[in-house]
Amino acid sequence: MSHVLTLNAGSSSLKFGLFLTGANEPEELAGGLVDRIGGAAVLNLHDATGQDLSRRQLTADEGATHAAALAAGLADLAAHFPDARVDVVGHRVVHGGPAFAAPTEVTPDVLDALERLSPFAPLHQPHNLSGIRAAQAAFAKARQVACFDTAFHRNHPFVNDVFALPRAYYDKGVRRYGFHGLSYDYIAGELARIAPQIAKGRVIVAHLGNGASMCGMIDGRSIASSMGFSALDGLPMGTRVGQLDPGVMLYLMEQEGLSASEISDLLYKHSGLLGLSGVSNDMRRLEASDDPHAREAIDYFTFRIRRELGGLAAALDGIDALVFTAGIGENSARVREEVCRGTGWLGIEIDPARNAAHAQVISTEQSRVRVMVLPTDEERVIARAAARLAACGAGQTG
Ligand code: ADP
Repeated sequence: MSHVLTLNAGSSSLKFGLFLTGANEPEELAGGLVDRIGGAAVLNLHDATGQDLSRRQLTADEGATHAAALAAGLADLAAHFPDARVDVVGHRVVHGGPAFAAPTEVTPDVLDALERLSPFAPLHQPHNLSGIRAAQAAFAKARQVACFDTAFHRNHPFVNDVFALPRAYYDKGVRRYGFHGLSYDYIAGELARIAPQIAKGRVIVAHLGNGASMCGMIDGRSIASSMGFSALDGLPMGTRVGQLDPGVMLYLMEQEGLSASEISDLLYKHSGLLGLSGVSNDMRRLEASDDPHAREAIDYFTFRIRRELGGLAAALDGIDALVFTAGIGENSARVREEVCRGTGWLGIEIDPARNAAHAQVISTEQSRVRVMVLPTDEERVIARAAARLAACGAGQTG
């Protein structure tokens, strides 16, 4: 028996999980979150059922950096789990570039290679890597494994991997990568466990959270994704724009005089549901609002999901199942209903009562396409990769 720690380091937050590993599936013991790193940081630790174990405001020093925040989180973990011995730390890393197609043990060379990928994901990758460095400092003897959001999509066919730019850009890594791969990996595994026949078929998964994307898979392998080079593309999200005519960016630069960092701010932080509604990036608040712009933002969100559904069905030559997951996909019966409205031509028919009850299967008995709601668990995918590394030798563990 040993323990693995999972780490997901964002720009101002650090999520972590403690798992016990043995012969079978990793067992979650606790999870935690340090929020508002660099500001008035707060640390919350909870057990596997979500019950609070501790919740406290960190001092300015404790919350100043990712390393300090990790130390504070580990101190609270040690107080509740004094016998935990962490052998492997598993990290969520947003970008694995063209080369990393599986979880990979972090060596100095791997860390260098991941640093060279930072320009591909400047808002996320540097924070992920500071999480790795903080964990290396905190656990000098533990092994570290990087798990990539891009890896699940790395075997896309060429036509789903490329933009019609001059070839030199493809060779430099300007490709359609796709993201949320840890979530899709988890859903593919769950489908194989609970509906193995369906899992072998053509499945479209809608990961609808603050970040949102869709993935078309056949036999559990990604064929196409709504996200491309960056996590900006595809569906509109909480604050991200989603698919945008590149001519709009030229206009913003040339006519409005916006700089690259101003455009980045606009497209990542002020667009999507927030920008369109002017009310909130949070679907619960939009659903509760009677502002007509909130209604229009939800209309646009569900319309773009339906369009993507048709596009991915074309990429897969049809569809056998549709799976909703993540915060909105798992909890909003209204979004699911609106996405599925008018999709009878694809063979989708949902049962309103099952949908309202958030049942695992929300399609009718007659529906040709099975429509499901499955909770995702990205931390568990990281914990499994870390547990495999704990159990075997070095190198790629996937
Ligand atoms: P993240 O991408 O940050 O992990 P989540 O997967 O937690 O995001 O999803 C957050 C989104 O889920 C928010 O827009 C939130 O409003 C939405 N959400 C959570 N619960 C509900 C609910 N009961 N009804 C509608 N939307 C919900």
